[in-house]
Amino acid sequence: MTRLLLIGPPGAGKGTQAVRLAEAYGVPAISTGDIFRSNVKNETELGKQAKAFMDAGDNVPDSLTNALIRDRLAEADAQGGFLLDGYPRTADQVRELDEYLASHGEALDVVVELVADPDVVVERLRKRALEQGRSDDDESVVRHRLEVYREQTEPLIDIYDERGLLVKIDALGAIDEVTARITDALSGRGIGLPDAATA
Ligand code: ADP
Repeated sequence: MTRLLLIGPPGAGKGTQAVRLAEAYGVPAISTGDIFRSNVKNETELGKQAKAFMDAGDNVPDSLTNALIRDRLAEADAQGGFLLDGYPRTADQVRELDEYLASHGEALDVVVELVADPDVVVERLRKRALEQGRSDDDESVVRHRLEVYREQTEPLIDIYDERGLLVKIDALGAIDEVTARITDALSGRGIGLPDAATA
């Protein structure tokens, strides 16, 4: 049973690593960004409410995000652990997650911070904008997302560090290499891969 959280600036590679780690540890990757994007695409009520915030590079209001995550964590596949990508992003979301887990007698095992230089992430997002055309990867929106990250999300890292849950990982380098850094760091904390195929 592994409950992981990935935190880091936009463009640090959270989504990429989340998919790989979820597969390795046999837990679902739960990305609030992906869930919002699919709701926008399908023009659901939630998508309609979230779209303007996302396009502006602002956080979607906590009330919407917290309700979404509560529902998602209650699903069957998340009962054996999960990997959260992009949540929590605000102090209010940390409180919500703490309460949710405590009321289910659960707790986080580890928080992985992907550390990347702002210049590098801006450059990565510039490339992604060309390749995928995500509407919030426009350069001025990217800069705003980085500011929002710095103001609202970065302070959360200290909270998890004080709880002794934080593992800092250098997010620069090949995708495989970054994944290996994370799995090594986790096995150093007693969180092994389920098939014991640790390198
Ligand atoms: P990135 O981490 O690269 O910024 P995400 O896919 O995680 O991209 O998020 C894209 C957008 O979705 C955010 O800019 C925000 O508008 C919205 N979003 C995602 N997760 C959250 C969250 N936990 N709280 C509020 N808004 C969120």
